[in-house]
This record gives sequence, structure tokens and C-alpha cells, in this order.
Amino acid sequence: MTRDQLIDILKGVGRGTKGLLQGYGETFKAMFTKPITVQYPEEKRTPPPRSRGHIILTRSPDGDERCVACYLCSAACPVSCISMQAATREDGRRYASWFRINFARCIYCGLCEEACPTLAIQLTPAYEYASDATLKLVAEKEDLLVDHGGKDNEYDFYRHAGVEVKFPREEHEGEKGPVNYKSNLP
Ligand code: SF4
Ligand code: SF4
Repeated sequence: MTRDQLIDILKGVGRGTKGLLQGYGETFKAMFTKPITVQYPEEKRTPPPRSRGHIILTRSPDGDERCVACYLCSAACPVSCISMQAATREDGRRYASWFRINFARCIYCGLCEEACPTLAIQLTPAYEYASDATLKLVAEKEDLLVDHGGKDNEYDFYRHAGVEVKFPREEHEGEKGPVNYKSNLP
């Protein structure tokens, strides 16, 4: 064995010993640190209000279903786990005759909530619905529909959009006339 080879071996042993001591050091520190383990399910932590868990379908202040079956949530969902069938009521309002979410595929990204124009679909902090039977994770509309407005009880989509236009154009209070785009041309 040459002198250089011997020096290399000793350097390697030195580095290994240093790493070993660092590892023991971390273990030693942890022995005197208060544990953060939560003994679930006996102990439960309250998740932050904006954490993304079980999905609900909410209602507007008049108690009507907010969902108008526009399919935007379904289109935005990256794992295609939302499906529904649109239908129309006698008064012309659209609704979902059935609405299904496969929680076995959901990745809780929140994109459906972002896409929803009526605030119908919302993610909640609820997380205790694990199951070993995959089909039990398929939620139907009756499992998702709640009797409140979720994060915003006051919002009513039909007060902002979808209302009947009662007056001719420019005759609504405060409405400005259409812009003559040709007048803007050079
Ligand atoms: S949270 Fe994401 S993955 Fe889950 S249903 Fe909504 S869009 Fe799909
Ligand atoms: S939950 Fe919202 S985005 Fe999805 S179909 Fe209903 S209204 Fe449209």
C-alpha cells in the first residue's frame, strides 16, 4: 500500500466518524425534545379552516341548491373524479339530477372550488372518512349536499347572474350605453 492510499483511507474513516457522531448528536437532542406525536384517533388536531378535505355541495340563502350543473368543476378536475347530469326545473333553473365524486381518486387540489361560479362546491377541513372499500369512497349528491352556504352563507349567484332582464338596453338605472368601438379607431 502506498502512502497516498493510506492517507485516503484515513480521510474516509475520519469523514465516516464525523457523520456517525452527527447522527448520534441528533438522536441525543431528540431525547430531550418534547414529542409532537398525536395519538390519533384518541387525540385529534383541529385542522386549519382552509385545509382541503371532504367536499360539500352548498345551498344559497333561499335554501335552493347552488349547483347549476355547468360542468366547470368537472372540466377543471385534473383526475376526472367529478361527474353529473344536468337537468332543468319547471321554472327554468338548472340543477344536477345526480352528482358524483370519487374520493378514491380526488387529490384535494381545490381546482373544482376555484372553477365553480356559484360557490356550490367547497372543500372542508373534514378528513375522517377513510375506508378500505373503494366503492364507499364514491359520494353521491345526497352525501355531498348540505343545508347551509359553507364558507359564505350570504352569496346568492342568482342575485348576480341569471336574473331576468326586465328593461330595454340603456334603460336600467345607472347603465351606460354601449361603446361605439368604431369611434376609437384612428
Ligand atoms: S379537489 Fe381537485 S381532484 Fe378533488 S374533485 Fe376537486 S378538482 Fe378534482
Ligand atoms: S358545482 Fe359549481 S362548477 Fe360544478 S357543476 Fe355545479 S355550479 Fe358548476
